[in-house]
Amino acid sequence: MAETSTRPIGAYERLSAEVHEWDPRTVEVAARVRELVRDRRPDLEVEHIGSTAVPGLPGKGIVDLSIETTPEDIPGVVAMLYDLGFGPQPGPDPWPPTRPMPVGSLELGGKHYRIHLHVQPRGGDYPRDIAFRDALRNDPELRAQYEGLKRGITSGGAVEGLKYTHSKTRWILSVYRKLGFAPPPIAPPATIGILGGGQLGRMIGLAARELGYRLVVLDPDEHAPAASIADAIEVATYDDVAAAQRMAARCSVITYELEHVGQGVVAALDDRRRPIRPGPYPLKLTADRLAERRFVEANEGRVAEWREVTSPADVLRAAAELGYPLRLKAARGGYDGRGQARIDGSDAITELDGRIGWPALLEKELAFEAELSVVVARNVDGVSRTFPVARNRHDRGILVESSVPAGVPGEVEEAAATLATSLATSMGLVGTLTVEMFLMPDGSLLVNELAPRVHNSGHWSIEGAVTSQFEQHLRAICGLPLGSVDMRAPAAAMVNLLGEGAPRPAHPTGIYEALLMADTHLHIYDKATVFERRKMGHVTALGATVEQALGRAREAAGLIAWAPAAETTPTQGSDG
Ligand code: ADP
Ligand code: MG
Repeated sequence: MAETSTRPIGAYERLSAEVHEWDPRTVEVAARVRELVRDRRPDLEVEHIGSTAVPGLPGKGIVDLSIETTPEDIPGVVAMLYDLGFGPQPGPDPWPPTRPMPVGSLELGGKHYRIHLHVQPRGGDYPRDIAFRDALRNDPELRAQYEGLKRGITSGGAVEGLKYTHSKTRWILSVYRKLGFAPPPIAPPATIGILGGGQLGRMIGLAARELGYRLVVLDPDEHAPAASIADAIEVATYDDVAAAQRMAARCSVITYELEHVGQGVVAALDDRRRPIRPGPYPLKLTADRLAERRFVEANEGRVAEWREVTSPADVLRAAAELGYPLRLKAARGGYDGRGQARIDGSDAITELDGRIGWPALLEKELAFEAELSVVVARNVDGVSRTFPVARNRHDRGILVESSVPAGVPGEVEEAAATLATSLATSMGLVGTLTVEMFLMPDGSLLVNELAPRVHNSGHWSIEGAVTSQFEQHLRAICGLPLGSVDMRAPAAAMVNLLGEGAPRPAHPTGIYEALLMADTHLHIYDKATVFERRKMGHVTALGATVEQALGRAREAAGLIAWAPAAETTPTQGSDG
């Protein structure tokens, strides 16, 4: 321990953010660290950036410093900084090793100054951060705006605080843009890479095609729904790092249609050569139901009462506190109700092992009024737009229908939109985020699940909104302005076409009859095989009222079935 105490840089303490007046000694702190680094690496510049680098600007008091070097040199610089006493960045979302931010502290005049030392690869944000600092130093008007935003954060209440944080990010990103540091849009015919080639990947891909983009898809199934519309498919599992890198090498941006991407793949693609959007952090967060719950709660979203459990014995203990009935959900890997169990009494608990992966989330089963969801898109400028809230109906964990408008009071609609926007902003997400919620009898909203992607409950937007969720997602991830989320009709409804029966080649029947229905549209995902409860396609109908739209969509969907195995001889071209 004697050795650590002789290091010039002290430990870093995580504190909650508070705004302080500008402290001139922060300049001295920056100068000291610059000297310490120069002693060891005379070739490196250390720039003082951030709020403490702007005389007179209030801030959190953290001394932000920045070093720029070659990507190969970064591990060496980090080792040197650790040797000075700096340590790794704490928190759930540290910067990747390609752009690390060691942290530490320095004592000056009896006060411990906290330091963030950004180590930037050439081509990173170093010039932008310096330009932003200089603009603030040189432009009193800009400084006054920024100060006003910051002061608002401390003066306002909790909700207002979030709103200010949002406007602050947006404001900062707008200044970056004015300074010429906004990333140029990714324009067609750039290639977009999609991790996952299911129906969501297919519909993202179809929208991408319309905009003129090219497409590469990674999926374990060479006949995945998105394969037929992609320029190329990388046939590999979602944890195949080499395959993901092969795909990435051809792409200007990577996106994903599912949360269950291997951590190694996420880390390997997070190399700053091209953006991965909605982002590596939203992906890491939502791949783990427990991390997701903690995130929602930390961001003022309410959730059902829950416990983390790691064994049936744990479940039994927690059940005694929570009361039955309960829902148990594996932390990782579940979807469409899979990886879940309903527990209505202690008898059920003994049979759990082997049926569910541990650790898991245990929560109360809620007697909700309705299930709702909202899709929000956030673009690179931090501008967000939320689609109208959808009302959803599930059957044994699978979405069966969605309708819009949700028919909830204006306050509920607004609360859902505000919540979704604040969650997307807190994640730093660029793209779409779907928030699944329960509307409780007292009008409150409890968050059920987050998906950093387009969502089944947003499919109605293809025909029902001016901009579909798929186009919106692409606009966001490609650095383009967001489109209007207005509805094209007073109401829209979507009904899923779920498979039934034994696995067999998929041939829909009844589509002629279904399409006789007014304002009704059919989407078939071209899955080779149909089986019980598999999502095979969906029907969307528009209408003057939700009842009318839902009536049309249900009737059309009800007319569609899947031919028995014997009757699947192809009929194409038989008329001539
Ligand atoms: P998935 O990832 O499979 O969509 P969800 O957690 O969203 O998992 O659960 C699927 C469905 O199960 C929900 O849409 C809802 O209908 C039902 N459900 C999940 N949790 C609860 C709960 N705590 N109380 C009541 N119903 C629930
Ligand atoms: Mg769900």
